[in-house]
This record gives sequence, C-alpha cells and structure tokens, in this order.
Amino acid sequence: MTVHNFNAGPSMLPPSVIEQATEAVSDFQGSGMSILEISHRSPAFTAVLDEAETLVRSLLSLPEDYAVLFLTGGASTQFFMPPLNLLPPDACAVYVDTGSWSAKAIKEAKRYGTIHVAASSKEKGYTVIPKNYSVQSDATYLHLTSNNTIYGTQYHFWPETEIPLVCDMSSDIFSRPIPIERFGLIYAGAQKNLGPAGVTLVVVRKDLLGHTGRDIPSMLDYNTHISKHSSYNTPPVFPIYVSMLTLRWIRASGGLQAMQVRNEEKASLLYEEIDANPLFRGVVAHNDDRSQMNVTFVLTDSYRELETDFLEACKAAGCVGVKGHRSAGGFRASLYNAMPATSVQVLVDVMRDFSLRYG
Ligand code: PMP
Repeated sequence: MTVHNFNAGPSMLPPSVIEQATEAVSDFQGSGMSILEISHRSPAFTAVLDEAETLVRSLLSLPEDYAVLFLTGGASTQFFMPPLNLLPPDACAVYVDTGSWSAKAIKEAKRYGTIHVAASSKEKGYTVIPKNYSVQSDATYLHLTSNNTIYGTQYHFWPETEIPLVCDMSSDIFSRPIPIERFGLIYAGAQKNLGPAGVTLVVVRKDLLGHTGRDIPSMLDYNTHISKHSSYNTPPVFPIYVSMLTLRWIRASGGLQAMQVRNEEKASLLYEEIDANPLFRGVVAHNDDRSQMNVTFVLTDSYRELETDFLEACKAAGCVGVKGHRSAGGFRASLYNAMPATSVQVLVDVMRDFSLRYG
C-alpha cells in the first residue's frame, strides 16, 4: 500500500532524493565507497558542501555579506547561539512567544542579556500570531518563530521594525520566498523541508557578529565555522549531502515561488475540507494565521469520542503521522514541500468518507 507520510519531522523527502541518497549509501559517485565512508576533507565532499551553499545562496537570493553554515546540535542549539554571538550583555533583544519552541528560545536567550517578550499568544493556547505590539528600536534584534510546528500557526506578514529579524524557520524554510534583507539571522533544523536530522542550516549577516565582548567557545562561535567553511570539526556528511539533493530538487521544481504556489494549493485543499466537513474544525483562531506546513484540526464536540476511529481510518488509507503533537492533541497533517497534492487528496477523501459514515 502507498504510504502518505504526514509526519511533522523528521518527515517525508522527495522520492527522487531518497533514491539518489540510497545509491550514494551503496556507492558514492562510482568511488567504490559509501557516502558514509568518505573523508569530509575529500574533494568529492568539499564539492557537495560548495554546491549546497551555492544553492542556499541562489534560492534565498542571499547578498554577499551573509554567511551560510551547516552546523550540528539541532535548532535547539540555535536557541542560545544567536544571543551568545549577537547580544552584548548590557543590551536587549525582543522576542515574540508563539509556541513551545519560541518559549524555549526565550528561556535560553535570558542567559545572555535582557530579553523583552513583546507579545505572547500563550494565554490563547498559541492559536494566534500576535499583532499590534511595539518593538523598541534600540534592541539588538527581534526573534520570531516563523512557523509553529505544534500549533499550526504561521507568520504571513513580517512585523514592522528597523531592527534585524532573527528567525527560527525550522518548519517552513524554503517553503516560500522571504524578504531576506529584513533578516539578520535565520536558523532551521534540516529534518522538515531540507534533509535528514543531524544538520542545522544557519544564514547570518556577518557584520552582526563580534560585538558582544564575550569569550565564546570555538564550537559555539559562528566566526569559527565561517572561517572554516563549516568544516572546523567533522561536519554531518550524509545529512549535508541529502540536504544538497533536496536543494537541487527545489531549484529544479521552480524555486521558492513554485514551492509557495504548490504549498498554498495543498493547504487550501485540506483547510477547505476542514471548514466544510461538519465533523471537523480547525484550531487556529484566525484563518490568516493558518500554517501551510502543519494543518491542525480536531473533531467537533459531539464527535470527540471518534478520535481513535478517525486515526484508524487514516491508517487504513495509508495516511500516517496524522495524530496531533502530544501537548496539543487532536490531529496535525504536515504538508511540507515534498508532499504531493495527491496525498493531501487521499486524506481529504478519508475525512469525507468518515463524515458519511458517522455524520
Ligand atoms: N524549532 C521548531 C519550529 C521546531 O519545529 C523544532 C523541532 N521540530 C525545533 C525548533 C527543535 O529542533 P531540533 O529538534 O532540531 O533541536
């Protein structure tokens, strides 16, 4: 049976990427060695790293003064590396709390300077993206989580401010074009739209670094990794290789504009069903905050006890990963770049059949 993988991350990758990665695991470029066995200093791998960087640069239209880094430690390490590297101890950074990942970023940042939480949607169960708050103009940066993987909310506007944005894009990187000049730093764990777990992409404007007066451990200093081209220590060779393949696939599929069009179509397909089907409702308070990556929904009150039956129906149709995050409950379908519209249609059909059966 065909599996339709709605997992939130690690999540599905383009089938052609999996095919090429499989081939590289048995024989990398006819070398007689697996990609898992080659040196990270070999010309073959250096070429992979170079191509991955070039693809990131061209997809994001990165100006020259931005560095591209492939690091380890997950997005969670980036909860503290930006404040450690960017925020002087006597300075202030502004954060917006839109979910558990933002809250973790705030907790870590507090170790390094004054953190002003300008807005939080916690009281509203993280079902909205806060608007209409002010951001002090003397702050070092404004930190946002562009897509809230657990709650299914996403920024569809960028707050008005002159200060650089620092953004956790773990769950929507490369899903749509962004105004890159507004961002001082972007970080993203690879395991949703980019590749396997184990590598984290960081894009940083270089002039923002080196102003904290801190003695930063080498591995935690962006400048170390910039000067060593992400190879100060052994980089995660295989995750970087697979990420490079995915970046090639994004470019060959038409780039970020094309990703946005596809993602809008897929998300509309599912949201339209959620809104039309009397057994289901969305959990995000305003439609304009709905995520195109993680669609969260629940059964309406009178059908709540059917949760297990619905998950069983999903499973029978090959739809996996539809159960909501353990802290949010309900259902969540993740529709990252690699998910085809045909799989979303299968889930929609399951929902329709379910309401005919139980409604
Ligand atoms: N930020 C967001 C938005 C996430 O969705 C996640 C994990 N899914 C993280 C951060 C944490 O990432 P990691 O597990 O790579 O540390």
